[in-house]
Amino acid sequence: MARLAQTHGLTDVQQEILATVRDFVDKEIIPVATELEHRDEYPQQIVDGLKELGVFGLMIPEEYGGLGESLLTYALCVEEIARGWMSVSGIINTHFIVAYMLKQHGTQEQKDYFLPRMAAGETRGAFSMSEPALGSDVSAITSKAVKDGDEYVLNGQKMWLTNGGTSTLVAVLVRSDEGHPEGTAPHKSMTTFLVEKEPGFGEVRPGLTIPGKIDKMGYKGVDTTELIMDGLRIPANRVLGGTTGRGFYQMMDGVEVGRVNVAARGCGVAQRAFELGVSYAQQRHTFGKPIAQHQAIQFKLAEMATKVEAAHAMMVNAARKKDSGERNDLEAGMAKYLASEYCKEVVEDAFRIHGGYGFSKEYEIERLYREAPMLLIGEGTAEIQKMIIGRRLLEEYRFQG
Ligand SMILES: Cc1cc2nc3c(=O)[nH]c(=O)nc-3n(C[C@H](O)[C@H](O)[C@H](O)COP(=O)(O)OP(=O)(O)OC[C@H]3O[C@@H](n4cnc5c(N)ncnc54)[C@H](O)[C@@H]3O)c2cc1C
Repeated sequence: MARLAQTHGLTDVQQEILATVRDFVDKEIIPVATELEHRDEYPQQIVDGLKELGVFGLMIPEEYGGLGESLLTYALCVEEIARGWMSVSGIINTHFIVAYMLKQHGTQEQKDYFLPRMAAGETRGAFSMSEPALGSDVSAITSKAVKDGDEYVLNGQKMWLTNGGTSTLVAVLVRSDEGHPEGTAPHKSMTTFLVEKEPGFGEVRPGLTIPGKIDKMGYKGVDTTELIMDGLRIPANRVLGGTTGRGFYQMMDGVEVGRVNVAARGCGVAQRAFELGVSYAQQRHTFGKPIAQHQAIQFKLAEMATKVEAAHAMMVNAARKKDSGERNDLEAGMAKYLASEYCKEVVEDAFRIHGGYGFSKEYEIERLYREAPMLLIGEGTAEIQKMIIGRRLLEEYRFQG
């Protein structure tokens, strides 16, 4: 049988990269993922292996030491990795978004300084928009930067930084009224700062504290933190792109590719859930036959596989659109929305197929069941995706009365 979620039209290089990553996932991630997740342990050995494979530099141009691959290649690798363990794809995701933002919007000096280190995985990226009082409504950000000579002084509290502790470079979005008079639209008075710091917790740079890991229901292993800025001084040459007031657009650009990425994670987790469900259904017997022989279970498997295929096709479509240089916000929003919803549904069906054993920590599906909900929230909730999709549809289908 052909596996689900095949991608046609890949180059030999793409196929080779994917085969290598899949092999790594099968041998190095799947066998240890559940145990590490239950211990909430950072997968250092896996991260070192991915560094060696060049995954941290996958989309960074070759001139900066990366592999210069497309968003599609990247997303397909993320799908494979998430199939093994979603948290590992989270470790790469924020790094990838920051590298992408630097590539697209950084000054030449910023690219020359950061990208080679990021490609090698020496510098590791996190990005920070959310605050305790806001996530969806980015325009309501209250953290602030005030100019003081050749520096900016940053104050405020950030929330939900994936890789907040382990990263050494955080792209932080704050309000910067300098040069932007009172009453300027919120999205025009925001700036992204490139904040370097030591890894770890506590005061990781004067004026910058990472208090500790947030205790989460799933998505464990990867650290998610708060970030507190109290008189944090950042030189003016660490404003992303060199000009203030462009942060909102830069972050939205980053989040747009991030959405393809989250869609890819949904595809990977759903694929693994299907694999677990279809395997268990052939081993468990009730009423004298494997449960896979009951039509109700076969229908579940059919629905699950159809969802896996549909989500994969939409994710690939969104990635290819971006790679072709076209605007892809509609496709990325649709792919993220559908893949995350389907992922949750496929995981739930696989859980039901496992009966009572799905509730036992001995079975992998228990972990997936706690991981899938994160995809409904990260990089914009379902409601936010539908807002983006709806607005774009009204632009495309404007009533010509
Ligand atoms: C594990 C994890 C990791 C994360 N990592 C990061 C990270 O690395 N960097 C970062 O910046 N953020 C990160 N986030 C934050 C994430 O992006 C936000 O949680 C998300 O955007 C939702 O924001 P919120 O939690 O403030 O919910 P809210 O914005 O308060 O929304 C609450 C509910 O209201 C709905 N809602 C909001 N506005 C509307 C509207 N206009 N119409 C209809 N419904 C609406 C939402 O869909 C949601 O259901 C992470 C979150 C989690 C849980």
